[in-house]
Amino acid sequence: MIRLVCASANPKKVEELARMLPDWVTLVPRPDFVGDVEETAPTLEGNATIKAVEVANAVGEWAIADDTGLEVAALKGEPGVRSARFAGESATDEENRELLLQRMERVADRSARFRTVVALVDSKGEMHFRSGECAGTIAMEERGGGGFGYDSLFIPNEGDGRTFAEMTAEEKDAISHRGRALAQVPELLSRLFGLSL
Ligand code: IMP
Repeated sequence: MIRLVCASANPKKVEELARMLPDWVTLVPRPDFVGDVEETAPTLEGNATIKAVEVANAVGEWAIADDTGLEVAALKGEPGVRSARFAGESATDEENRELLLQRMERVADRSARFRTVVALVDSKGEMHFRSGECAGTIAMEERGGGGFGYDSLFIPNEGDGRTFAEMTAEEKDAISHRGRALAQVPELLSRLFGLSL
């Protein structure tokens, strides 16, 4: 078994990442004594690094962090690295979605992509990155009750016209940005830990 400490303390996030990793990886949540880290970098890579380094240094073990952004072509890549804070520092998912729909009113080019960067970092300063993308379009209105964040507004190109929020978790994972980034992690871990898969 390989033990990785997740940079998130959010049980839902830990569960989601654990679901996408092989069963020979034990993912443990960030311990309580490590507080929330401010995501101050201008890139997804930078923020994933900040989060993973903080945790790896605090626990003295390998840590994994992910950072995701929604990049909308007509908004010149916004909200991007600011996706969680699009409608303000403590904005809710709903407020962020409302603002996105507002900014996309009467916009013909609705193309967008989700991008996730995963950072794997150890306490000695070794760092590795993997990324995944999912291209799609922004819906005209919200659809679907599942998912979180911008899921009810995002229609992946590789799907059948449904939004992420209308798909099962398995359907979303198979084509999602996060699924694609995480799919590369087992090979990386096997190399780092000298395992034969
Ligand atoms: P985080 O990096 O996972 O914290 O995500 C940053 C922002 O993107 C937050 O507003 C999330 O709600 C949103 N987000 C991240 N992943 C997804 C996704 O898979 N679907 C929809 N929204 C997402």
